[in-house]
Amino acid sequence: MFNEPQAPQDIRHLAIIGSGMCGLSAALLLKSSGVKVTLFEKSRGPGGRLSAKRLPEERGGGSADIGAQYFTIRNLGFRALLEQYAGPTHYTTWPARLRYQTDSGKWEFFNAAERYVGVPRMTAISRALSRTLDIKAQVRIEKLERTGQDQWRLWDTESKDRGCFDAVIMTAPPAQTSTILIASGLAQLAQSFETHIPQMQACWTVVARFPNTLGLDYEGFQPTSEILQWAANNSSKPGRDGEGEWWVLHGRPDWSDRHQDGSSEDITEALIMAFSECTGIIERPDYTLAHRWLYAKSTATHGPGHFWFNEDRIGVIGDWVKGGRVEGAYESAESLTKHLRSVGCLDAGTSEESKASE
Ligand SMILES: Cc1cc2nc3c(=O)[nH]c(=O)nc-3n(C[C@H](O)[C@H](O)[C@H](O)COP(=O)(O)OP(=O)(O)OC[C@H]3O[C@@H](n4cnc5c(N)ncnc54)[C@H](O)[C@@H]3O)c2cc1C
Repeated sequence: MFNEPQAPQDIRHLAIIGSGMCGLSAALLLKSSGVKVTLFEKSRGPGGRLSAKRLPEERGGGSADIGAQYFTIRNLGFRALLEQYAGPTHYTTWPARLRYQTDSGKWEFFNAAERYVGVPRMTAISRALSRTLDIKAQVRIEKLERTGQDQWRLWDTESKDRGCFDAVIMTAPPAQTSTILIASGLAQLAQSFETHIPQMQACWTVVARFPNTLGLDYEGFQPTSEILQWAANNSSKPGRDGEGEWWVLHGRPDWSDRHQDGSSEDITEALIMAFSECTGIIERPDYTLAHRWLYAKSTATHGPGHFWFNEDRIGVIGDWVKGGRVEGAYESAESLTKHLRSVGCLDAGTSEESKASE
């Protein structure tokens, strides 16, 4: 009976829904434990919120990071994973001077810290991490169906059968993961993390190109503005090409939420005006684009690390389960993998990779 507690058993072929930092990390960690992994990704390629937009050639080309702006590497496992699979050419430090505005309106500089970025864009990291992985892109998983062999069959939104797996790991933001579980008749699992759903915040992002250098003596800032939360000189990041100076502006979460259905033109104008008020720059950009994130960042600073429903062999992970941010996405994957090893679900040490490292 599938609802009775079972002894942990080996997982041989596992599906991961989502190929952002969390899904990619989980896939690489699990592969090194001898598990066959297939990832399903609804977008054209891996990366998720490690996202960049290519800029039109007629506007000087290049790309701009519209999701995560930079990331930290404090966790030794994260460092090892990046070094092994991404390598030094795909990410480096961004020695940016970043400032913030105090409640009294004064500007102060953040302490110097090691901030990392992908080179020449954030997606360089996800591309590098995904090189050895089996990713089925442009496949949006709709639901899971239990088979007679105690496996899960995955169905996509085109009603296509995507195969059977011993276990499934879900890495999408909580609202999207919840939708899949409910469609699969697993609403009780979704209840375990329903408090995380309202913690995900929206973010309007605008990319603006200024034809000439603005001459500011900082590369990014966090103002007290009611509209603008963050602005960064994308052109100051290492290895960026493209002509002119590209700035990335992020709207404040509550403002982005209130203006979810705003037009791109109105959103762009509001963010550019706020940028101008903070910097004193009156020059207008000659090209802009806007992107709306419905689920950008979680307000949760802590989390359980992972959810593992042993009777169903379903895992739920993501940045939002481990305090948010890129490094949190890795740590959530690491947390679940360690748990699966500790309860004996993984036949650790049987893979070619693990044998080679012995
Ligand atoms: C505007 C913005 C700014 C940010 N700034 C920073 C920052 O400066 N520093 C930092 O550390 N973090 C930052 N973050 C957060 C950081 O981007 C995330 O913490 C991290 O990238 C999350 O990785 P993840 O793999 O958990 O989730 P995601 O990257 O969201 O990956 C989930 C994946 O699942 C896919 N998916 C969803 N549903 C389905 C489905 N049904 N079928 C198939 N695939 C599906 C999605 O397409 C996506 O690729 C920022 C995020 C945003 C949006």
